[in-house]
Amino acid sequence: MGLGVAVAVGASPASARTSQAEVCDADAGPYVAAAQANGINLYALEWAPFGPAEMGWETYAPLIQKELGTHCDPSSPGFAEKLAVFQTLHNLPATGQMDAGTFTVFRGLWQERRPFILARIRGECPSPPPIAELAYLTAGEEHAERMTRMARRDVLEAYRAMVATARAEVPELAQQPELLQIFSSFREPEADAARCARDGNCDGVRRAACSAHRTGTALDIYVGHLLGYGVDSTHTHNRRYMSQTAAYRWMVRNAERFGFVPYAFEPWHWEWVGPPQGYAQ
Ligand SMILES: [Zn+2]
Repeated sequence: MGLGVAVAVGASPASARTSQAEVCDADAGPYVAAAQANGINLYALEWAPFGPAEMGWETYAPLIQKELGTHCDPSSPGFAEKLAVFQTLHNLPATGQMDAGTFTVFRGLWQERRPFILARIRGECPSPPPIAELAYLTAGEEHAERMTRMARRDVLEAYRAMVATARAEVPELAQQPELLQIFSSFREPEADAARCARDGNCDGVRRAACSAHRTGTALDIYVGHLLGYGVDSTHTHNRRYMSQTAAYRWMVRNAERFGFVPYAFEPWHWEWVGPPQGYAQ
């Protein structure tokens, strides 16, 4: 089911201009068997990468493709070859097959890009920013399901540049203003703890005790959701659906240009790590 040549779906015109067509399929060669195995375990791998049991790794495929620098389908020999190179670089068996051990390395790379996580590993909990550093979202930036209305001013500026670019590059994002709206941003620690206690929706005490949203740099961005689930439902069906949307896929490929990094388990949660790399003031 691999594509003969990868099509850069959702890629920016700039990257489409500069990237060479990538050959993903091979009828023979060392990665055909690995590709077949990936085509199966993409849906069938039984594992628990973030604690709860999951089936398959389709939800994480866009982030993995981005990390490997490939647009090849996850079930193609071209993808398996890139994965084998990654595995070699990280002292893993170069099977070209996705597995829990390889994912642990990807997850570690992604988590290390989040200063908030590094602080938590050091046993710290970042302080909220001074109120003067916060600014209000505009009405058009607030999602109907919003929980909060403020974020750090510099983060909002980066967000605005990102959304303008996304809507210019992907017609679907321009036509549906709800996409990329913010449903949670700065959350005052005490209010967050009270909300967790009230709703019983704390995702464990850890989130109640110290959420990334206290920093004013975390944004929950609407990328679409599966009917019948909440905009921040961590149900595997909902997260798998989100991972396929145009909004999420554009974010995976482009958000870092604006200083945002993902949290792989929550397709809507992005943290600004600035300074922005890819937009001129
Ligand atoms: Zn969040």
